[in-house]
Amino acid sequence: MKPAPYDYYDPTTVQEAIGLLNEFGDEAKLLAGGQSLVPMLNFRLARPSQLVDINNVTELDYVRRDDGVLVIGALTRHRSLEQSELADGAWALLPEALHNVGHVHIRNRGTVGGSLAHADPAAELPAAVSALGGRMVLRGKDGEREVTADTFFEGFFTTALAPNEILTEIRIPAWPARSGSAFLEVSRRHGDFAQVAVAAAIALGDDGRVIQGGLAVAGVGGEPVRASAVIDGLVGEQPTSQLIGELTEEFVAELTPPSDLHGSADYRRQLARHLVPRALDESVRRALA
Ligand code: FAD
Repeated sequence: MKPAPYDYYDPTTVQEAIGLLNEFGDEAKLLAGGQSLVPMLNFRLARPSQLVDINNVTELDYVRRDDGVLVIGALTRHRSLEQSELADGAWALLPEALHNVGHVHIRNRGTVGGSLAHADPAAELPAAVSALGGRMVLRGKDGEREVTADTFFEGFFTTALAPNEILTEIRIPAWPARSGSAFLEVSRRHGDFAQVAVAAAIALGDDGRVIQGGLAVAGVGGEPVRASAVIDGLVGEQPTSQLIGELTEEFVAELTPPSDLHGSADYRRQLARHLVPRALDESVRRALA
């Protein structure tokens, strides 16, 4: 199939891109890595009359540590973040999640911002960013706002981004020194989107009790489902397998996953029941290592 006709723009600065979005409103779409948008254009599931290609906006391509925070420009390719030496400690969750995204050719083109803005409910990166307490920076003509993952992800393929805003940066907060994280997923074939994926991070105090945690599950709802009650139940406690198991059962009982071609609701619940404790146990093991 071929896309419907559109006018093409390739700005070189964020300001220029925002100006174009502002001029065209709902008629415009941003093009980043194109790994989701181009198939949608070809199938005519998206029919923008104006395409704003941000691949030359190189100011959005960086990974750096800033005052203890990991800051990632939205145009950073999946592969760059996957190979970044800065993503260590609990942040190693990001490369581990990205390793499950499609295949290496897709990760060479796909961008961090594109994946988050696309907000596929079965995508790996939104779950990992949610679990780590990441924040998204959205810039429009009136300035910048920073939102939490809970605010950013609104539902199936829906985010808090306004039509004239660009996701410019992702900020992942510092985690305590004694932290570990783990990403586990089940998909039909290697490189497919997850049927269910679990992103977990745990920080331990000197006495081995949990002092901080994050847990998000992809594939069981419209957006990454944050298991805050599991983390609340762990904080201040020794993270024993028994406690993790009990909290997981309570969490899974509340889940209302979708049933579709890729798996029934019951099957997804079953996957979550197995993956959540394994991801938490592994995070604890890595925090202790
Ligand atoms: P694009 O396709 O260019 O854009 C996607 C959407 O985001 C568009 O609506 C665009 O307007 C918007 N957008 C892009 N950048 C911004 C920005 N900075 N601000 C605001 N809006 C923006 N993904 C997974 O998560 N897991 C998988 O297993 C997986 N497997 C794949 C397998 C195949 C064969 C293919 C082709 C893709 C797969 N993907 C998978 C999708 C891939 O991760 C995409 O790269 C990603 O979803 C979109 O990133 P992109 O940079 O390509 O964005």
